[in-house]
Amino acid sequence: MTAATHSTLFPRVPDSADAVLEGLDPEQRAVATALHGPVCVLAGAGTGKTRAITHRIAYGVRAGILQPSSVLAVTFTNRAAGEMRGRLRQLGAVGVQARTFHSAALRQLQYFWPKAVGGTLPRLVDRKIQLVADAAAACRIRLDRGELRDVTAEIEWSKVTQTVPADYTAAAAKAGREAPRDPAEIAQLYAAYEDLKRERSVIDFEDVLLLTVAVLQDRHDIAEQVRAQYQHFVVDEYQDVSPLQQRLLELWLGDRENLCVVGDASQTIYSFTGATPDHLLDFRVRHPGATVVKLVRDYRSTPQVVRLANGLLAQARGRAADHRLELVSQRPAGPEPVFTEYTDEPAEAEGAARRIRELIDSGVPAGEIAVLFRTNAQSETYEQALADAGVPYQLRGAERFFDRPEVRNAITALRAAARFGGNDALLDDAPDLPSQVRAVLSGKGWTPQPPAGSGAVRESWESLAALVHLAQDFTAARSGATLADLVVELDERAGSQHAPTVQGVTLASLHAAKGLEWDVVFLVGVAEGMMPITYAKTDEQIEEERRLLYVGVTRAREHLHLSWALSRSPGGRPNRRPSRFLTGLRPGSHAVAGRAGAAGAGGVERGSWTAAATAVLEQAPRRRQRTPARCRVCGRTLTDGGEMKLMRCEDCPSDMDEGLYERLREWRGEQARRSGQPAFCVFTDKTLIAIAEAVPDDEHELARIPGVGMRKLRRYGADVLALCAGRDPAEGQDQD
Ligand code: ATP
Ligand code: MG
Repeated sequence: MTAATHSTLFPRVPDSADAVLEGLDPEQRAVATALHGPVCVLAGAGTGKTRAITHRIAYGVRAGILQPSSVLAVTFTNRAAGEMRGRLRQLGAVGVQARTFHSAALRQLQYFWPKAVGGTLPRLVDRKIQLVADAAAACRIRLDRGELRDVTAEIEWSKVTQTVPADYTAAAAKAGREAPRDPAEIAQLYAAYEDLKRERSVIDFEDVLLLTVAVLQDRHDIAEQVRAQYQHFVVDEYQDVSPLQQRLLELWLGDRENLCVVGDASQTIYSFTGATPDHLLDFRVRHPGATVVKLVRDYRSTPQVVRLANGLLAQARGRAADHRLELVSQRPAGPEPVFTEYTDEPAEAEGAARRIRELIDSGVPAGEIAVLFRTNAQSETYEQALADAGVPYQLRGAERFFDRPEVRNAITALRAAARFGGNDALLDDAPDLPSQVRAVLSGKGWTPQPPAGSGAVRESWESLAALVHLAQDFTAARSGATLADLVVELDERAGSQHAPTVQGVTLASLHAAKGLEWDVVFLVGVAEGMMPITYAKTDEQIEEERRLLYVGVTRAREHLHLSWALSRSPGGRPNRRPSRFLTGLRPGSHAVAGRAGAAGAGGVERGSWTAAATAVLEQAPRRRQRTPARCRVCGRTLTDGGEMKLMRCEDCPSDMDEGLYERLREWRGEQARRSGQPAFCVFTDKTLIAIAEAVPDDEHELARIPGVGMRKLRRYGADVLALCAGRDPAEGQDQD
């Protein structure tokens, strides 16, 4: 899905240092060969910043100028760090540390804790939000779920900006933050949260950086030891560095100048956490001798995608925008971006899923497609729609498999079971390794069938299911392997970040998509209220939203789809408008002053500088358009995607035929095994429940159940109807 896997499927390790420089343009070469002194690369999306710094490190190592172990490369996500390690390996540079600020700090903290503080480093808290909830309970302050999230974000912001509870009120006012509650209350909650952490001897994500900074600041000897180890620093995505990360970087660096930073102010999307592009833009002021390189050639995207990206930037305002660089595509022409308006959100999700299905059927690998959205809450509708269209998908594209809490937890449980071996009652009835793994993971939430639940529950199930599969493959490859052998294998894989592969369409938030690229990108929910998001109020916040859309657009190599829905739910008031950021850029919208002529209503723009895209008013299926969906038990209007699928409120009594439901699940498991797809790609739990409640007699009745499209009807209709009639589907097949 990304550059590394796309362009270097069969990499050839360059045979010399100079060969590493091949494949770089003159400006990128200037970056790669400036091995000493401060270097700053200011460049737009897809211009090869990440490529330039990776080649710079590899060139330095291959030329014998940089000691691999003396280089620390810092990237923004664990995934990006893993990718950089992969690219470095392919270029023949091994042993370089490529990490996030967080993981580099954590490693140093673990190492130096016994010397600096004594004992071992306190445990990292798993669920911060729970701790905030406990703090709220201790303060007798009631917070709803949304407030809990917002207060947690305020605490995080305070910590990365190094604001203590007593200073919160003043600092938040100065920064113009719109506090989700009375600032005095937030300060109180923040203080209680810190007390609770101390009481429970745990630390949080932000503490890792704070404590590392404190140790390096207070202990000169330890700071010197770290500086003796690391001589060269490289930072990717520097526009989003937080004050705390910047402080840590300065402590690592000491009075040396061997620092290379790359970034794009137009992609600053973490200001809400206290990040600022000022460090990037003012680099020359703080390092007067710095080599500054600008890159403008866009190697990632087609001229059509680039034109839209440049169009978005042309409308941007503020400091970051003053430094914008117009991108110039280096790729051959491709299709125009497609803008699509839908009547409602489920129709938008179904439309995207249908197009994705067509793309996959025409040979595009699922891993080359991404659906990107503004908020994680949008994910579920797309998960459902993709599952209904039989498209495998993966969530959380940005997180490393072995870092997921449920995976760590599962491995801990497997390790314990391996240690206790035959004494563990859990394993009594488990004759072979896969069944032992299933038995242990059942205690951690694994079930033979995926849960019908929300994104988080499903994600965690997918992780555990991947471990179960891995155990099966491992046993197949090494007969007689024990649980202890599997634990060794898992440890090795975790060490090299060799995650079990999941081939699927990536569903990710725009924030998590940073730095990545796909052949096909669907940007969904590009409507006012989502993009910009309702709570973006100030000019700066609106500009950050625009940059977020710019990040989304520039993830696409070739195909770019942008869509929005006029109402949230079927039959709802069509009171939504497409995002203001697309004004003048999408067909049918008035152009920004002096740039382009207005396009005909809903038609195709011709001769304008904007993308002449097809605007299609996609019609939702008739049943959805005419009447709002209502609960068939209590009659309430349904708005939740899952409830619409059930055709009743989640809490209303179910008249499900339990026996039929069980038979359907069993049948579905068999289908999934045969086709090698996850079970939810056959039918989701919600659809199975709806079938077991409706017990359809014929194809018409079956087709009325949401989640049973034409494709599914053709493929599975006969089987499902046989099961509903109390027959064995296999009987019908024998007769065929
Ligand atoms: P972003 O701002 O999104 O992080 P970036 O500037 O870091 O983008 P890269 O990810 O390094 O860009 O590169 C974008 C794509 O262009 C990658 O697929 C990369 O391999 C390719 N690319 C970069 N430079 C060149 C080059 N000189 N020749 C061929 N391909 C290149
Ligand atoms: Mg990059």
